[in-house]
Amino acid sequence: MLVDVHCHADEYSIHRLREFIYKFKMIIVGVSVDLKSSLKILEYSKELNNFIPCVGLHPWYVDKLSEDGIDEVFRLSRNIKCIGEVGLDTRFVPKTIEKQRDIFRKFLEIGSEEDTVFNLHSVDTWREVLELLRRYDISKAIFHWYTGPINLLKDINDAGYFISINPSVKFQKKHKKVLEKAPIEMILTESDGPYLYKGYNLSPEMISESIDIIAEIKGLERKEAVEIVYRNFEKIFDI
Ligand SMILES: [Zn+2]
Repeated sequence: MLVDVHCHADEYSIHRLREFIYKFKMIIVGVSVDLKSSLKILEYSKELNNFIPCVGLHPWYVDKLSEDGIDEVFRLSRNIKCIGEVGLDTRFVPKTIEKQRDIFRKFLEIGSEEDTVFNLHSVDTWREVLELLRRYDISKAIFHWYTGPINLLKDINDAGYFISINPSVKFQKKHKKVLEKAPIEMILTESDGPYLYKGYNLSPEMISESIDIIAEIKGLERKEAVEIVYRNFEKIFDI
């Protein structure tokens, strides 16, 4: 089976998601960015097989929700397998960083009580995010579309965390370098779809091609790459 560990599934119709899941024999992890998407992702999870919902508040949206709305997202993020998309971003939204930190810490507090998987946004904050995860004793985390420092990969791996490889690996040099350097044991696949990135419409159907690239770079048969990534997925999601 293929895995998409970071998909903005609320932006697809349920019909389209079902198509991805059956056509590509795939498990999709749906991430949320705010209250509305969290509710929709939870709704979808009742209707779909091979679908894992994550509740979260994306760093870009921390100032777009009322206090009540934020509290409601926190409430929904209890007793759930995965919290995301959450984290910190000082590149695109530096102005709200203090609020981002308050909110992220609260999610870490909630997740640390329940052994939750963290689906992370950590643009230009990779090291800080890693330190916070450790401080809160988080055991399961995915650094989504990792383009951070190469020398941090070892610490992320030593902590037992994962990174996810995005289809942009096909043309994004930094991301390709990450794939070359990261041990296969810490690699997962994701789409971040639907997202238009440099003319590419990122979507779950591109995961198959990512697997070919992973196999090629790691010197594996395609089948082996599929199996290893799936094993990594089983490990983190406990399925
Ligand atoms: Zn995302």
